[in-house]
Amino acid sequence: MENEAKKFIDFIITQKCTYRCKYCSQSKNQQDCHNDANIETINSFYKLLDKIEKDFEITITGGEAILHPNFFEIVETVKMQGFKINLITNLSFKIETYQKIFDILGENLNRYDISFHLDEIQNFSLMMEKLEKFLEFKPQNTKVTFFIPFYNIDSKKELKVDKIVRMAKRHNLEYEFQPIRFLNKFKEEYNEKYDITPQAHNNFAKLCYAGCESAVIYEDGSAYRCYSSRFLQSNYLGNINDNNFILNDYADTCANCACMCPKPRKYNQVCIEKDYNEAIKETAKNILFLPYLIYKQRKVVFAKIKQFFELF
Ligand code: SF4
Ligand code: SF4
Repeated sequence: MENEAKKFIDFIITQKCTYRCKYCSQSKNQQDCHNDANIETINSFYKLLDKIEKDFEITITGGEAILHPNFFEIVETVKMQGFKINLITNLSFKIETYQKIFDILGENLNRYDISFHLDEIQNFSLMMEKLEKFLEFKPQNTKVTFFIPFYNIDSKKELKVDKIVRMAKRHNLEYEFQPIRFLNKFKEEYNEKYDITPQAHNNFAKLCYAGCESAVIYEDGSAYRCYSSRFLQSNYLGNINDNNFILNDYADTCANCACMCPKPRKYNQVCIEKDYNEAIKETAKNILFLPYLIYKQRKVVFAKIKQFFELF
């Protein structure tokens, strides 16, 4: 690898959300899943943080992470453990809530990503006013990036998108359009004005530091190498509540033909080197375990099938 891979751990502390986006990649609008990480899982997470180096970026996310009953306590504890923290929000809470977060985390708030779900925002003008305040009050060095899911954009929504983009430019912030994805497939949306070119990456057999320099941990403590992993046994890292969770100490091969994880790519974790022998072994393991994983994740599977008929 030319540059060193950046390390991160994402902890999904709740499946609850204030919105019900049709295209939610976790199908929160279709499945009856409102689970929070319980105290055991949260304590296991703190113990994990005690063991890893402080250069891991820790993202506390959801759903809407703020909805977890212990959200403020969790972010404060992670800060006290010496980590920089990343957060993500749909900006649906009062500005006072965000001010409280800024007060607790201060400059330890590394980045705060904001996603704009245009179908769910009740009052767009008020939202933009709140956004101005958010940017005014945030800690000086906190990086803010706007994410705009690209779904059924018509002329009315285009005007709103323009306003968001203008706001980003005025504040010198990055913004990104997010193509909608479903079961390793992108929904193609054409728009003359914005250049959206969704692309899944065939990383089959490529070595990837996901699982070694990063992990995604769900609210039940189960951990995977990345967000494209839930149905790949080869990408399961164990459960932080059990004694079987372990971060790899090497870049491992990937058996996924359609990687849709932007973060490991951005964080320089996917290598160009390939290991076909290992990838073929991993594929055999994945096929063997697939029926079990489909059964285990059956709620997600049913929700995604339902979502498919609504979206495509
Ligand atoms: S705001 Fe995000 S997590 Fe919540 S329903 Fe929408 S896409 Fe899903
Ligand atoms: S290449 Fe993509 S799908 Fe494969 S392990 Fe890395 S992040 Fe996950």
